[in-house]
Amino acid sequence: MAKVNPFAIAQRQLDQCAKILHLDPGVQAILRVPSRELHVSIPVRMDDGSIKVFQGFRVQYNDAKGPCKGGIRFHPDETIDTVRALAAWMTWKCSLLDLPLGGGKGGVICNPKEMSQGEQERLCRAYIDQVGRIIGPEKDVPAPDVYTTPQMMAWMMDEYSKISGKNQFGTITGKPLALGGSAGRGDATARGGLFTVREAAKELGINLSKATIAVQGYGNAGYYAACLAQTMFGAKVVAVSDSKGCVLCDGGLDAEAVGKHKAKTSTVCNFPGAKAISDAELLELDVDILFPAALENVITEENAPRIRAKIVAELANGPTTPEADEILHKNGVHVIPDFLCNAGGVTVSYFEMVQNFYMYYWEAEDVYKRLDKKMTTAYHAVLNTSKKFNINMRQAAYVVAVERVVEAMKLRGWV
Ligand code: NAD
Repeated sequence: MAKVNPFAIAQRQLDQCAKILHLDPGVQAILRVPSRELHVSIPVRMDDGSIKVFQGFRVQYNDAKGPCKGGIRFHPDETIDTVRALAAWMTWKCSLLDLPLGGGKGGVICNPKEMSQGEQERLCRAYIDQVGRIIGPEKDVPAPDVYTTPQMMAWMMDEYSKISGKNQFGTITGKPLALGGSAGRGDATARGGLFTVREAAKELGINLSKATIAVQGYGNAGYYAACLAQTMFGAKVVAVSDSKGCVLCDGGLDAEAVGKHKAKTSTVCNFPGAKAISDAELLELDVDILFPAALENVITEENAPRIRAKIVAELANGPTTPEADEILHKNGVHVIPDFLCNAGGVTVSYFEMVQNFYMYYWEAEDVYKRLDKKMTTAYHAVLNTSKKFNINMRQAAYVVAVERVVEAMKLRGWV
C-alpha cells in the first residue's frame, strides 16, 4: 500500500470543511498551506569528535488567533509534510479549544535513541540556535512531541534564555516541574480525552462504571487513559497493546500493574493472566470504548466496517482515514476526533504559559478543573455543530475551528 501523506489528508479534511462552510476560495487557499516554514541544517559535534549535520524544520501554519503553538518531534522518519500536517492540526486544535494561540510544529530528522545525553543536549541547543529567530513567547511556543522529553525542553528553554539575555520560561512548554512546568501536564492528554468520553457517554446513554475499554498503544497517552478510566469511572480495561503485541483479559486488566510490567519487561506482552491477541483483533473487539493511542492510519476503509466499539476516542493523531470516517459515521460509531480528544496536552501547555507569565503556579486540582471546563465546552460545541449540519464529529470539529480562525483573519483585515 502506498504511504499516506498526512499533509494531503489534512488538506482534504480542510477542503471538505470549506465546502460545508461555503468558504471563499481565496480564504481556503490561504488555509491550505502553512504561512511560514523554516528549514535548517544543524551541525552537531558528536562524541567521537566528528560533525554530523541534521535536517530540522519549524512550520508556523497560521497565527491569526495568537502566537503559534506546537511540539517538536525528533524522529528518523520525520518529513516536512508530517510537520506541515501536524502544524495544521495544531491550528485547528488551539482554535477548537478557544485558546489564544495559532498552530505550529517542529521536527528534526534524527534518532535520539542512538544518541548519548551529551549529543542530545548539543542537538537541542543547536536546533534553538537555528530556529530561535522565529520562536519566542509572543511568536511561537514549542513543546515536546514524539521522542522529545521535558529534559530536552529544559535545555531548549535555557538556550533561548541565553540568546535573549534573560529567563524566558514561557518560550517552551512541557518543561520539568522544577523549571516552570505545570502540575497535571503528565497525564493531561489522557485526562482531557476522558472528559470528552464522559460527555459522549452521557449523550449515548453508556454507563461508564460498567463500560469495557480497549487501548491501542501503551505510552504516555494510552497508559494514563487506561489508568484514569479505572480510577475516574470504574470502567473495565479488557485489552491493551504496544508495538510488540496485544493482551486481552475478559475479566479486566489492572492498568497500573500492566504499566509496571511494561516498565520491567519493556512490553505489555505476557502480562500474567492475559492472553495474546493480534492488533487487528484488538481494534475490532466488541467494547464500549476504543482508544487508538499509538499511530496514524490504523482505522482504514478495510477494517472500519468491523469496528464494533460504540465510541472511538482518538488520543493518537490521525488514526482514522477519511474513508474510514464515513464508514464509522454510517455505522453509528461515535468518533471523538483527534484534535478534540487529545487536546488536553496543548490546553495544559497553554496553562503552563499562563503560569510562567504570572510567575504563580496552580495546584493540580485547579488545573484539572480548568481542563475539564475547556474540554467539555469544546466537546459540546462539536456535538451541537454535528447535529446542526448533520455532519460527522470530525467535520463538525473542523467547522467550529475553521470558522473561528477565519473570523480572526477577517477582523485583522487579512481577508
Ligand atoms: P509514546 O511514544 O509515549 O507511546 C506510543 C505507544 O504506542 C508505545 O507504547 C508504543 O509501543 C505503541 N505502539 C507503537 N507502534 C504500535 C503498534 N503498531 N501497535 C500498537 N502499539 C504501538 O507516545 P504518546 O505520547 O503516547 O503518543 C501516542 C499518540 O498520541 C501519537 O499519535 C501522539 O501524536 C498522540 N498525542 C500525544 C500527546 C501527548 O501529550 N503525549 C498529545 C497529543 C497527541
